[in-house]
Amino acid sequence: MRTKLLAHVKRVVIKIGSGVISDEHGLDTDKITNICDDVEQLRQRGFEVVLVSSAAIAAGKHVLGIKGRPQTIPLKQAAAAIGQSRLMREFKDGFHQHNLQAAQVLLTRDDLANRRRYLNARNTLMTLLEYGVIPIINENDTVVVDELRFGDNDNLSSMVTNLVEAHLLVILSDVDGLYDQDPRQNPDAQLISNVVRITPEIEKMAGDEGSSLGTGGMFTKLKAAKRATLYGAGTAIINGRNSHNLLHLFDGHELGTYFLPARDPMAARKHWIAFTKKPRGKLFLDDGAHKAVAEKGKSLLPSGISRIEGSFERGDAVRLCDLDGVEFAKGVTNYTSSELLRIQGKRTSDISTILGYQYGDEIIHRDNLVKLGTEN
Ligand code: GLU
Repeated sequence: MRTKLLAHVKRVVIKIGSGVISDEHGLDTDKITNICDDVEQLRQRGFEVVLVSSAAIAAGKHVLGIKGRPQTIPLKQAAAAIGQSRLMREFKDGFHQHNLQAAQVLLTRDDLANRRRYLNARNTLMTLLEYGVIPIINENDTVVVDELRFGDNDNLSSMVTNLVEAHLLVILSDVDGLYDQDPRQNPDAQLISNVVRITPEIEKMAGDEGSSLGTGGMFTKLKAAKRATLYGAGTAIINGRNSHNLLHLFDGHELGTYFLPARDPMAARKHWIAFTKKPRGKLFLDDGAHKAVAEKGKSLLPSGISRIEGSFERGDAVRLCDLDGVEFAKGVTNYTSSELLRIQGKRTSDISTILGYQYGDEIIHRDNLVKLGTEN
């Protein structure tokens, strides 16, 4: 079954967890070499590979004499600053043996939340792939501040899957996959092999505890799988600590948990609006507009806007709420908050009279709208 499921895959994002390539003493060179060997094999078989690797903090923290997870943000950032170059050197050495080149790409959430920078990052990654170079992505831990963080690399890897339009996300973890119960507490726990749809029941199976090395537990992995599958990419969670599991997966072995792509994947742009872009404000819509957007899939016009909250620019994402403040959609606005204050409640034909110009009839075009519920 797996062989069939993976038959269409050409571009793959592989997320490597800290628990796979490091331990309390730092990086595990043998493991990294193994992964480089496997990636080389995959490339021989015609796959394009993008890596998202954690373990910068794990690679640097022992230099500062830290045991367990660094407790403060400056310590994490200092550990990452020390560890990131070490991490890259290990990969560089591992790939060098196969005459492959690697490139470091460090991202913050903001890089992907702004459409221009998103496209710029995308171009860079596509160019690297075109030249046969292997991008190795991590969060820019050293400088990032809390509100700009992806939070964990499971999340980052799902966004990268969308960014590079990959067909498959593989999460290499230190566990075997998703179990129906916590395997550390219940020896009878069963590994779930294939997941057609991520239902609330499946979600319940994922606890939220991580190891001391990385940030993600099964909870964040499941969230990442949900995002990637909604975008249309299958997601596999497999144990990366077992040698060559990665190759076995591509050989069609039934290992780990495989999440099938959603049957009705969101367009990449909508996915970006739903998951990557950070909303800057809120629009409260009257009942008619709420119905038109939520039920009829219509664009948002100025007449239906009752109230505006926040300060935002053209191109920013905003939350759409009903008159009770219940959020039901997200969208990208064509008008700034100050423009909207002037044209809210007015007819479309009045926009250019009031502003002296107009960017279009719609405040938010339906192509730039995502209803909640379809996003998570
Ligand atoms: N970016 C972090 C690091 O390289 C890891 C984040 C995570 O474990 O999810 O150490």
